[in-house]
Amino acid sequence: MGAKILSGKQLAQEMREEMKQETLALKEKYNIIPGLAVILVGEDPASVSYVTGKRKACANIGIYSREENHPADMSEEKLLSLIKKLNNDPKIHGILVQLPLPDHIDETKILYAINPDKDVDGFHPFNVGKMMIGEDTFYPCTPHGIQQLLVRNDIPIASSHIVIVGRSNLVGKPLAAMLMQKKEHANATITVCHTRTKDIGYFTRQADIVVAAIGRPNTITEEMVSEGVVVIDVGVNRVEDSSKERGYRLVGDVDFEKIGQKASAITPVPGGVGPMTITMLLHNTIKSAKRHIR
Ligand code: NAP
Repeated sequence: MGAKILSGKQLAQEMREEMKQETLALKEKYNIIPGLAVILVGEDPASVSYVTGKRKACANIGIYSREENHPADMSEEKLLSLIKKLNNDPKIHGILVQLPLPDHIDETKILYAINPDKDVDGFHPFNVGKMMIGEDTFYPCTPHGIQQLLVRNDIPIASSHIVIVGRSNLVGKPLAAMLMQKKEHANATITVCHTRTKDIGYFTRQADIVVAAIGRPNTITEEMVSEGVVVIDVGVNRVEDSSKERGYRLVGDVDFEKIGQKASAITPVPGGVGPMTITMLLHNTIKSAKRHIR
């Protein structure tokens, strides 16, 4: 493995230490305890495990967290009234609705109902719009985590050609918007690829940085990248592995072993982008609480 491993796990730990100091200072100087409400509807195992991770992360750095666990048949009306209640709760600075929601609930309607001032996921169209025009806002956690990984590992973003494979509203699109801004930690030239792109390798071979946010193992292969490229692997995929007790292991979207020989730096899966996503959620919750400093 010639590439430097960009450990999100390690960076997340460092950033969470900094945040711990911030929450301590907020409490001591202003008597403010940042508060995050996490709403989970149903018992999807992956969602339950994400929510547990968020609760532990909050507890570790001094954020008050409130879990709102509700059965899968919760009505849309009830969920909307819960959000309204949390919008008006002074102890809560951030509201997160764990996605996906059951089919009978309109996800867009729910995300619109969250007060944009408490939208720590950065999914409300008001905040998405602010991000697009380069205003300060709650940046969506995964793209923001990727930006921090690059910045804090001294990987130049300005003037780099960044090729993003994937155009979801969660990762690809907001990342493109953030990194193309005319501001600090941005100013990149961006190419976005997707399923209708003719020859993805043609673009990725020209990249200084490749970001894979696809959701399919081994989509980015060795011959699709150039020597010295930086690779950020956002994908989290389960592949069967009988040697593991649980019967599977997690891999990203890129051929980690082979690309690792060619790249100058690469994120592992797990331990790369994942821990950064939760870290930026904590960051947004503290940012929201700080707006209450008088
Ligand atoms: P998504 O909504 O399914 O979007 C996937 C994107 O990849 C789409 O734009 C799709 O193109 C594109 N795509 C799919 N197959 C492709 C192919 N063969 N060639 C080129 N493009 C292809 O997924 P997402 O929410 O962005 O998530 C992507 C991956 O990142 C998933 O594995 C997810 O679990 C992971 N993820 C990880 C974190 C983290 O914190 N680590 C956070 C979020 C997501 P079209 O638009 O043309 O369909």
